[in-house]
Amino acid sequence: MTRYEIYDDDGTTDREQCPRCGDAFLASHGDRLHCGRCDYTEWN
Ligand SMILES: [Zn+2]
Repeated sequence: MTRYEIYDDDGTTDREQCPRCGDAFLASHGDRLHCGRCDYTEWN
């Protein structure tokens, strides 16, 4: 289901997008993902 891609050396990490905003990326905070725009939080 969930893919984890660790490669981040060129800033093109395949991050998940916010399901509410659509064009905003979710920031990873340990075991959860957070959207800084609408405050959406997704727990893994
Ligand atoms: Zn959002």
